[in-house]
Amino acid sequence: MKKIVAYKPLPDDVLAYLQEHLEVVQIDTSSRDTHDAFVAALRDADGAIGASVKIDSSMLEGATRLKALSTISVGFDNFDVADLTRRGILLANTPDVLTESTADTVFSLILATARRVVELADWVKAGHWQRSIGPDHFGVDVQGKTLGIVGLGRIGGAVARRAALGFNMQVLYTNRSANQAAEETYGARRVELSELLAVSDFVCLQVPLTPETHHLIGAAQLRAMKKSAILINASRGATVDEAALIDALQAGTIHGAGLDVFAHEPLAADSPLLKLNNVVALPHIGSATHETRHAMARCAAENLVAALAGTLTRNVVNRDVLGR
Ligand code: NAP
Repeated sequence: MKKIVAYKPLPDDVLAYLQEHLEVVQIDTSSRDTHDAFVAALRDADGAIGASVKIDSSMLEGATRLKALSTISVGFDNFDVADLTRRGILLANTPDVLTESTADTVFSLILATARRVVELADWVKAGHWQRSIGPDHFGVDVQGKTLGIVGLGRIGGAVARRAALGFNMQVLYTNRSANQAAEETYGARRVELSELLAVSDFVCLQVPLTPETHHLIGAAQLRAMKKSAILINASRGATVDEAALIDALQAGTIHGAGLDVFAHEPLAADSPLLKLNNVVALPHIGSATHETRHAMARCAAENLVAALAGTLTRNVVNRDVLGR
């Protein structure tokens, strides 16, 4: 039986499914001291399944049996894909199953920042609601506004649908190639990043983290946004220059930010972001519902079983390794 390493806890039924096909070694990577045990286990494995751990090339030295890695995520910035391809290791991910729940998270950040939901709910809980509220507690409208999506792919498309059909918003986007379906179905208009920043009321990042998208939004881009605009980031923390964002929020260069992802996670409790009323910070919950996380684990497990059987054709990040 082929042997795999599971480096994230899996639902019981998904673990049982894997054990029907493979010998499973479970490694707890939640503490630092288990790093060496994880690397050692990889040296003796045909595959691995997990998430949220950076797997660099040094960890794969000596892992000569390794044929497939299955990440329980759609993003694959924890891997050096070119290096995996050189080694002939297939990388599989879990697109589609998390698209709608992540788009819900994006929309909850849009609504929470615009309508000050978290700030005002805390205010009520603190016992401050003594008379009817006035302009000091008003928010800004979401419906009818302009939403700029930087990276309109699967999740961006699901956000565009909510915006155009549910909230009567105009949708602008940037991509390297046109998203015909979003243009036809949601009236999305592809523009240069400079135009998107200049006219959007909400700028929403949904690009993958790559060398090109690293710090895509920095001080100059924040200055190019409207003073009334809100930045939403549920992509990866490093697509935004976080120090520049903190400066912009403190100086009033932009109106606010809704953030699900950060340069360093977990976000430090003393981060200046947490002192700002105009910031809603979430603990990377994009896909974090019971249903979606289960579907992701199941999808990743099926990917791994099929990859090691040589039959996987979908959800393959580095297709170059297929047929080798
Ligand atoms: P996707 O379908 O591949 O969409 C990504 C979009 O970004 C594509 O439309 C792509 O279009 C565009 N893009 C890629 N590189 C670009 C670049 N250099 N410049 C401009 N646009 C670029 O991926 P998805 O399924 O929507 O997921 C997107 C990302 O969301 C993931 O990679 C992940 O990091 C993040 N995510 C976060 C959470 C969370 O928990 N917060 C959950 C799920 C996903 P072109 O190729 O035409 O440029």
